[in-house]
Amino acid sequence: MKAIVNGIILTEQGEISGKALLFDERFQGIVSTDEVDADEIIDAQGRYIAPGLVDVHIHGYLGEDTSDGSEEGIRTIARGILANGVTSFLPTTMTVDWRELEAAFDVVRRLMPQSRNEGFDGAEIIGCHAEGPFIDPQRKGAQSADHILPPQADLLLAHRDIVRIVTMAPEMPGGLDFIKQVTADSDIVVSIGHSSATYEQALEAIKAGASHITHLFNAMTGLNHRKPGIVGAALTTDVYAELIADAFHVHSGLFHLLHVAKGDRLVLVTDCTRAGGLPDGSTRWAASPSLSRASKAACRMAPSPAACCTSTTRCATCTSWAAFRCWTQCTPPRSAPHAPSARMTARAPSAMARTPTSY
Ligand SMILES: [Zn+2]
Repeated sequence: MKAIVNGIILTEQGEISGKALLFDERFQGIVSTDEVDADEIIDAQGRYIAPGLVDVHIHGYLGEDTSDGSEEGIRTIARGILANGVTSFLPTTMTVDWRELEAAFDVVRRLMPQSRNEGFDGAEIIGCHAEGPFIDPQRKGAQSADHILPPQADLLLAHRDIVRIVTMAPEMPGGLDFIKQVTADSDIVVSIGHSSATYEQALEAIKAGASHITHLFNAMTGLNHRKPGIVGAALTTDVYAELIADAFHVHSGLFHLLHVAKGDRLVLVTDCTRAGGLPDGSTRWAASPSLSRASKAACRMAPSPAACCTSTTRCATCTSWAAFRCWTQCTPPRSAPHAPSARMTARAPSAMARTPTSY
């Protein structure tokens, strides 16, 4: 048995200070420090003690990208994000050529069982998030227009053993049939994203089986009092919703509202690209020749849209821990921010992606 002392323990009920957390292979309990009977005592030195973070939307880190289809690359990502507190994740593909996507799925398929072994050096791979290629070219964001495909359930279902989430645009031809078939024939979570769907179309998609929203507010129809859009549908139904909580993709003034509206169905994600974890400078990004970034902030972004790979996108380099801290710092105390944030980074993503974790 081991004990962690002198830390702020985050639980679903709130913060606990002045106590010790006991664990061996799993969490064993929280006791008074004078009751600690452990083989090893770890001094947290006043830091947070939180459940392992679960990132269900992360493309890359340390110069590597899931869509490259490189086993060593995904190992590097897994190892790098473990240092940010991430204990499990869904390597996330972008809209690239379908054959390249299948190669990336194959790598995830090979690594998944290995990542569960004790000797694996990195966060556990709990499946794959396919962000595209079944999206709306009008809302492609940083995705490549050349490789967008109309929704085809059969293509995706061939990879139902590893794909946990697919991000798609329900308004594309065949979109609703795709949702019905994928949810009927697999456990894949269908997520609305990179989409121009109206409020009504989003509700139809949710009725057909979509249960998640990819990076709420970004690359979708926004909330307007006469046209509630996908955001309106997300806030008024029981779907899960991702938030890139870096206070750039979504203004932090909305964090409290999102927590009130979504509760335990809000999922903090990073959407991190290969630029994450690298020093400031330029790097390659999927189909685009290069992107650049310069900032010393914890959640780092390209300094201006023009500096990045397209005129409309900026590179995401947020880390899970930075998103967690950003949430706690930007959310007013009345939200009891710390306890919900532990749920948003652990329980909610696990529940949404229907993946067991040790949380
Ligand atoms: Zn993404």
